[in-house]
Amino acid sequence: MAEVYVTAKGDKYHKTENCWGLIAGQKSGEGRYDLQPIEPKELGDAIANGWTACGTCGGS
Ligand SMILES: [Zn+2]
Repeated sequence: MAEVYVTAKGDKYHKTENCWGLIAGQKSGEGRYDLQPIEPKELGDAIANGWTACGTCGGS
């Protein structure tokens, strides 16, 4: 099973932990030190929970 990366407040799943979209999403919290934790997820699980593929890294 493919594993992808999400943040709780993000709406995209990412193929790589290093995607700038994921890193930018981490910083969507209140302050710059309030980073969203990156969570690994099964691809099917991410889709089932409403995350969609990141346009930058392709998601899957
Ligand atoms: Zn991405």
